[in-house]
Amino acid sequence: MTLQSRLRDVESRLEQACRRSGRHREDIQVIAVTKYVSVDTAKAVVLEGVSHIGENRWPNAKAKWDALKGQAVFHYIGSLQTNKVKDVVGKFDYIHSLDRLSLAEAIHERAQKLDIQVPCFLQVNVSGEQSKHGLAPEQVKPFIVQLQAFDRIKPIGLMTMAPYESIPEETRPIFRALRQLRDELNEMSILKEPMKELSMGMSNDFEVAVEEGATRVRLGTVLVGKEEIEEGTQ
Ligand SMILES: *Cc1c(COP(=O)(O)O)cnc(C)c1O
Repeated sequence: MTLQSRLRDVESRLEQACRRSGRHREDIQVIAVTKYVSVDTAKAVVLEGVSHIGENRWPNAKAKWDALKGQAVFHYIGSLQTNKVKDVVGKFDYIHSLDRLSLAEAIHERAQKLDIQVPCFLQVNVSGEQSKHGLAPEQVKPFIVQLQAFDRIKPIGLMTMAPYESIPEETRPIFRALRQLRDELNEMSILKEPMKELSMGMSNDFEVAVEEGATRVRLGTVLVGKEEIEEGTQ
């Protein structure tokens, strides 16, 4: 399948999911996750008009960032070690994986040095799987209260990863729970501004996520494919 035909296919599936759920296509931002593809493919994706790029590890993202900075919006979607914050903050426009106070502190300090604000998604482990990062749903409220001390961090929404299901429909309760959690938090008057965003939905389950209110879908394989590339040499 060519890149163009994949993009067309995803676009039509997004439009159908919007139609089914009465949503507007322009309320959903596609993030092309380029972690499995080369710099050239990432450039081609941007040329085709998808200008939001997601990467989950800085060493692999570096070459793509160098090649596309200024032309694409960068999203850091992977778990972030505190000692990598200096590489990521200032280069990535959004961080999708804020899940602990020590990380918030590191991001805040770095952002203060650079005199910037960092829009962040709070990662929530809705499914409760041991292997997944993220705050437990009941930890999110106290976490937001603690975040008030770090004014360089702008909590703009919630992010989750659903478990892989061979029947995508089975992910629906996870996405619905994330949306309900966001809505509940917005009613608690603990946020300066309401959180509008929901970063949820990947190749296998993005249509269900859109039907449940995703505002950002993170699409790797289904959108840009998967190539044989060596770590760190991309
Ligand atoms: C890799 C990755 C994706 C994209 O995965 P696909 O299943 O290939 O679409 C999305 N989100 C996160 C956090 C990822 O690590």
